[in-house]
Amino acid sequence: MLTIALSKGRILDDTLPLLAEAGIVPAENPEKSRKLIIPTTRDDVQLLIVRATDVPTYVEHGAADLGVAGKDVLMEYGGQLYEPLDLNIARCKLMTAGKVGAPEPKGRLRVATKFVNIARRYYAEQGRQVEVIKLYGSMELAPLVGLADKIIDVVDTGNTLRANGLEPQELIATISSRLVVNKASMKMKHAELDTLITALRQAVEARA
Ligand code: AMP
Repeated sequence: MLTIALSKGRILDDTLPLLAEAGIVPAENPEKSRKLIIPTTRDDVQLLIVRATDVPTYVEHGAADLGVAGKDVLMEYGGQLYEPLDLNIARCKLMTAGKVGAPEPKGRLRVATKFVNIARRYYAEQGRQVEVIKLYGSMELAPLVGLADKIIDVVDTGNTLRANGLEPQELIATISSRLVVNKASMKMKHAELDTLITALRQAVEARA
């Protein structure tokens, strides 16, 4: 059995067509179903529906053999995972952002984000003193109410930033979703995984 961890929303929407090209179709619609383990048209493949930030945890611990996670989530998680394929989906940018026209604060910068590890690493590389403030959502609010000088968040069109009087500033990384594979599974189930990764690679390349 191969178990694939996926999160609902953008990643599921963009991954299902790739899986279909590899011959894997869920037996029921994961967006509508309340089930968290979803069988597929292949007896030897099942899907786990988990939170996006939990995908690396399920895969690293071997509860899933493989999964799909955004590069932002993987950078924040760290951990020991194989990352054999860029699926080139759910593309966006990880950026700093601040209030339009606000001067660069002198001294210690306050940065609100859910990506606290990425934030610490990014500013440490620049030798900049920062206070990182962990938030779980609505990051755009933080500079507006004086909680932080800047935020670090993923940006697609930039509409959410603009609607809140913020502007994108520095690019930290370009983001897309990656296939991640458990290290032990890669050894124990090598043939099955290799076939699946090759099929997905062909599906990704056919789109390029
Ligand atoms: P935007 O198009 O920049 O207004 O993005 C809308 C919201 O969707 C932002 O608040 C982002 O946090 C989020 N978002 C955009 N693209 C992605 C992505 N590829 N993965 C995860 N979240 C995203």
